[in-house]
Amino acid sequence: MKVTFLGTNGWYDTWTGNTCSVLIQAKEYDIILDAGNGIAKADHYITQDRPAFLFISHFHIDHIVGLHTLVKFRFQKGLKIFGQVGTAAILNTFVAEPFTVPLTRLPYPVSIMELEEGEHAIPFTVECLPLVHPAPCYGYRLTLDGRVVTYCIDTGICDNAVTLARDADLLITECGLKPGQESPGWPHLNPENAIDIAQKAHAKRLALMHFGAEVYRTLDDRCAVQKQFEKAYPGLVVATDDLTIDM
Ligand SMILES: [Zn+2]
Ligand SMILES: [Zn+2]
Repeated sequence: MKVTFLGTNGWYDTWTGNTCSVLIQAKEYDIILDAGNGIAKADHYITQDRPAFLFISHFHIDHIVGLHTLVKFRFQKGLKIFGQVGTAAILNTFVAEPFTVPLTRLPYPVSIMELEEGEHAIPFTVECLPLVHPAPCYGYRLTLDGRVVTYCIDTGICDNAVTLARDADLLITECGLKPGQESPGWPHLNPENAIDIAQKAHAKRLALMHFGAEVYRTLDDRCAVQKQFEKAYPGLVVATDDLTIDM
């Protein structure tokens, strides 16, 4: 299984990267986590002849802005989109005229499935729980090919993130804030918070992405996080766009 970080910036694109999207290539499926501008790179990696799944965490624009590029894809087995309750109405408003080609007129079938909190077989197992964020945001725990990947993006310190990441092979979470920085009015994680969640959950590896574009202005700023914290968390990955992890 391969995990490729297509977009690793939080908030907006800069030369350090695109906004959030992650590609998981499992044995039978191609799975995309969020649709920031990074999603436009997915067709560099996949052949589009396998069932494709897209999970939307929430509707802040850095997680959905890339949806207008779906029209260039040719998913031969269609695309299934998953999100929290209310996803269909919101996406059909955003991915619509006059902004872009509506989901119903893409050149392949698209279905939207709204997931209640809890565990679902879709056909692989996914568990979803709400995180701490100004807008409702889902974290996902995916079990694929005997591995667990947890995706908790856009959250403050949060018990549900620990629950979703329990014993995970890989926890992907956010790093919106610099070390020591806090933002109680608009919850995000600094590297210490992310490591704390990963340690409490006994996650084997931790990948940080969603580096706030306004505070992580250069890739050197991210490298500094790797240097400062790799001893505290030996499985730490500081993601950059187009980094692939083999699992
Ligand atoms: Zn975000
Ligand atoms: Zn957000």
